[in-house]
Order: sequence, then C-alpha cells, then structure tokens
Amino acid sequence: MAFVDRTVRSLFLTELLSGMWLTLRYFFRPKVTLNYPHEKGALSPRFRGEHVLRRYPSGEERCIACKLCEAICPAQAITIEAEPRADGSRRTTRYDIDMTKCIYCGYCQESCPVDAIVQGPNFEFAAETRAELFYNKEKLLDNGDRWEYEIALNIAKDAPYR
Ligand code: SF4
Ligand code: SF4
Repeated sequence: MAFVDRTVRSLFLTELLSGMWLTLRYFFRPKVTLNYPHEKGALSPRFRGEHVLRRYPSGEERCIACKLCEAICPAQAITIEAEPRADGSRRTTRYDIDMTKCIYCGYCQESCPVDAIVQGPNFEFAAETRAELFYNKEKLLDNGDRWEYEIALNIAKDAPYR
C-alpha cells in the first residue's frame, strides 16, 4: 500500500503542487517581514539601547555626579570622576562607559535620581573597533542631544506605569 501511495505521489507530483499552493496562498497575504534597514519595527518606550547623558532645556547637564549608576552597575562598566564647580554645584569631570562590558540591564538608568543617564532608542551603533565602544562624557552628551526628543517622549509614555 505504501508503495502504491509513493508511486501515485511521484507520478502526479502532489507534494510539489501542494508546496506551490502554499506559496501562492502566502503570496497575497500581508508581509510579516521588514525590509530592514529601510523599514524598522516599532520599539517599546522601555527599549534599552545606546546610552545617553541628558541635559536640561537650559543646556545644563542633568548629572549631579552622585555615582549611584557607577555603584550599581553589575558589569562595572561605568567610571566617574567628579569635583565641585566654582558655584558649589557638583558635576562630573569624567563619565566613561565601557560599552564592551555593558550588559544592557538598565540598572544605571533606574538608579539615576535625575534621569540623566538613559538608555535611548538607538540600536544601530555597531563599531569596527573596540576603541569606538569606549564612550566618554562628550560622546554621551552628544548622544543625549541627538536623541533628546525621542527619549523625553518615551519617558512621558512610560510615566503612568511607574
Ligand atoms: S546598562 Fe547595566 S551593565 Fe550597562 S552600564 Fe548600565 S548598569 Fe552597567
Ligand atoms: S548619571 Fe545619574 S546616577 Fe549617575 S552619577 Fe549622574 S546623577 Fe548620579
């Protein structure tokens, strides 16, 4: 019986035809794939991407050098040095993140009392060398300036759930 079944399938190409029918059915359905990088999927407001250091609208840095993020980082990827300014305010003189160590846990962001260090929506920051992944304060502030609009929007969207 199995022999007859196999022979009939081979003669009438039923498996080939059923495969083609399946292809034809999906051909007219909406696509579930994206043509990346020209198309990108939606991201959650809580997405933990590339780090940024934010500023206040006045241009002043938010970070008050409390070092909570440095203390909590399980990968010890953050290095901060700080000293008081002439006006008595406390600011960082060095803020480095070794992105090759970072595990994107989000603890730094959660610990920050002034929403200064944030993991933004940027996930396209692959580099060709390790050195490019050693971020300093200037790089992080630049990132903050570039992504501030999206980050402020994400924080506002997430606020009712906190
Ligand atoms: S996301 Fe986690 S591992 Fe990365 S710098 Fe922040 S606390 Fe450290
Ligand atoms: S980024 Fe936030 S948690 Fe880290 S030192 Fe600055 S104020 Fe403190």
